[in-house]
Order: sequence, then structure tokens, then C-alpha cells
Amino acid sequence: MRPTLLLFAFFTLPLVVAAQQPQPSPTIAIRAGKLIDVDHSRILTNQLILIRDGKITAIGPDLQIPTGAQTIDLSHATVFPGLIDCHTHLADGSQQGNIDPIYQLKHTAAEIALESVPNARMTIDSGFTTVRDVGVYRALSDIAMRDAIAKGYIVGPRMFVAGAYVTISGGAGAMTGFAPDITLPWDLRYGQADSPWEVRQRIRQLAHDGVDHIKILSSGAVLTHGSNPQSQEFTPEELAAAVDEAHHFNMRVAAHAHSPDGIKNAIRAGVASVEHATLIDDEGIALAKQHGTYLDMDIYDEECIEEEGKNGSMTADFLAHDRDLGEKQRQNFTKALHAGVKLSFGTDAGVCEYDRSIRQFAFMVKYGMTPMQAIQSATTSAADLLGKSEILGSIEPGKYADIVATPDNPLDDIRAIEHITFVMKEGKIYKQPK
Ligand SMILES: [Zn+2]
Repeated sequence: MRPTLLLFAFFTLPLVVAAQQPQPSPTIAIRAGKLIDVDHSRILTNQLILIRDGKITAIGPDLQIPTGAQTIDLSHATVFPGLIDCHTHLADGSQQGNIDPIYQLKHTAAEIALESVPNARMTIDSGFTTVRDVGVYRALSDIAMRDAIAKGYIVGPRMFVAGAYVTISGGAGAMTGFAPDITLPWDLRYGQADSPWEVRQRIRQLAHDGVDHIKILSSGAVLTHGSNPQSQEFTPEELAAAVDEAHHFNMRVAAHAHSPDGIKNAIRAGVASVEHATLIDDEGIALAKQHGTYLDMDIYDEECIEEEGKNGSMTADFLAHDRDLGEKQRQNFTKALHAGVKLSFGTDAGVCEYDRSIRQFAFMVKYGMTPMQAIQSATTSAADLLGKSEILGSIEPGKYADIVATPDNPLDDIRAIEHITFVMKEGKIYKQPK
């Protein structure tokens, strides 16, 4: 560097540093006509919510609006916490990519990633500010999506991701339906494991890759060729290894299971949640209650599987797997609810188009929940399942300002939740009434 330039740099540096000092961010004040207090199962009226730096700082009926605050008037709306879907697949490309796994082989990884962008936007637009994503066919693409959203490259919910499906060879999370001499690319078989030590190795690798939780497949699946949803896949030893290894990295395990034994093996192994839990029996319900295991039952998406069946876009083997399962799952949801099992909100988004997940609330009410319980399943319960209750799940000082609103009160008619007109995530507005 020439001396004159050095001198210039020396004298200008303090000014530049001063200009880069972060400005204190302005306070946002939301007037909430009605506010659903999910922590205490009650509705509050005429509340003021104060927000700064993406977090809620105060809430109450008699607060002063600080001078210079940006005010948002939701005094004619019902306000409640941003919703959390605990079972999504946002990064598998267009919705067709979830229904037809071979779709993944007809598109490049870049195409799949870019096709997934609208999935994230649709999800937050309908009111979900956080998702627990539970597996991708092309390994690690969900990590890329989580980070792209966090950095603001694309719009979407806050994501917690699994990185891949940890599955037995040829199992529910594997890419199947090919001749034995076809070798799949690495990212389509990343999570395959066939012994407790292979399971541990996969989980160690995924932890290193930066995932938030582990997804294992304990039984066969509906939407996998050559799979039987009634079967058991991983052994109790493999499931126990998964839970133990995940705990070494401070991660929780979500287990896909349809069959009664697949469900019970997963609960006994200590998983945090059983996904689908379709054919759970009385012993399974008692075990879930005893262990405090969440059931994450996707009781709406049967509507979409049946629609796909009628319009001919679902293969015959998938429809055969699905036969009778949908109705049994809904009956078992009611049974588990009445038994007092913990139930979280998970839709398997991707089976249905992403803007339809919100319709599951009405089905949860139809099958026995109160509207308050249905909303709690996607707020307080979902945050608890994620282990994030200190920062997510309700509108309280110290938590992220994840806030949504509807013109009508969903506690009066749950279908009002299908018309969310205001969405805020971490203090930033993504949607507001026109
Ligand atoms: Zn799923």
C-alpha cells in the first residue's frame, strides 16, 4: 500500500466504524382485538403486544406505546401465535416429487431445489412460521433450504431439518422400484443403515452435516414401492441405537410408523414422536402416554390421496397400501385424544399441496379436539416437541414475534383459521390485510 493511501485509510477508518454502529431497532406495537392465550386456554381482549429486535418485549391491556413505534392495528382481528407444522417435506421439489419418488430421477438437484422455493412461500403464507421438516429424498437439500430462508435468500418458515431418511436398505425411506443393477446417486441413499452401528454412523454423519433432529423409519410406508405399511423395519436394537446416538448430539428422534409393532418399538426405544401412528393399538396408546411420546397424526392428507386416486395420478400399489388406513388413523386419533396422549400438529405437507395443510385443523376438531386443543397442538405442543418452548409456541415476552391473525375467531368456528390475513415471523411482516 502506498503511504498516501495508508494515511487516508487511517483518518477515515473511525468514521466508517461509527457509521456501521447498529441503530437501535424501532419498537413495533400490535393492537390485538382478541388474542388467543394458548398457555392458559383463554381468550384475552384489547391487548397490546410490543416487539423489538424480532422478539416480544411486553404484552398487556394497559401498555404505553413508545414514541416512534410502528403501530399495527389488528383491533378487529383475532391474533394468535404463528403456527408450527411438525411434519413437512418442503424441499422435495414440486408436490409431484412427494407422490412419485421416481420424479427425483427425472430432475436435477438444482431443479428440485428451485422448484421447492414456492413450497416454502406457500407454507408461511398460510400461517405456518415454523416447520419441523422430516426428510428429503435428495439428502441435505433441506439444510440448504433452512439456511437460505434464515439468510433471507428466499421466503419461508423457520425450518428444523432432518437431512435424510435413516432407513433400512429398500425400506420406507429408501428410493425403491429399480432393477437391482441400478446404482443410485449418493444423495438418494444417504440415510440407509442396516445394523445398530450403521445407524450410529449415519447419525454421526448427519449431526456433522448440521441437521436439527433425526428421522427414522420404523415401519413400511404407503408412498414407497415394494413397502408394506403394516410391516416392521428397524429392529428394537437399531431404534435404541438411533435414540442413544442422537442424544449424544442433543438431538431428538422422530419415527415414522404405521404398524402397531413399529409404533411400540419406537416408543419403547424413546423417540420424541411417532409420525402417522396409523394403526396404533391400545397397548401402543398406553405406552405413548406412559413415555410422554407425542403422536404426530396426519389425519387430513387422506383427502388428497383419495383425490389423486380418483384422477389417476396415484399408482395402484400406493392406493392398495393406503386402503382402509385413512379411516383407521382418524378413529385412532380420537382414541389417543380421549386417552390423554400428547398430540402435535403434523400434516405430511407435500402429500397435499402446501397451502392445504391449514385444513387439518378442521379435521382435528371433527375427530374430537376442541378448537383450542387443535391450535395448541400447533403452538405450545409443537414447540414442546421441538424442545423450543422458551422461544416458540406462544405470545409471551422473550419469545420470537411469530404472530398471525384472522378476521374471524377460530375458537368460534375452526375453519376461520383457513383465512389467515396477517403473518409476522421474528418481527418481520410477511402478509397483511389488503
Ligand atoms: Zn412424511
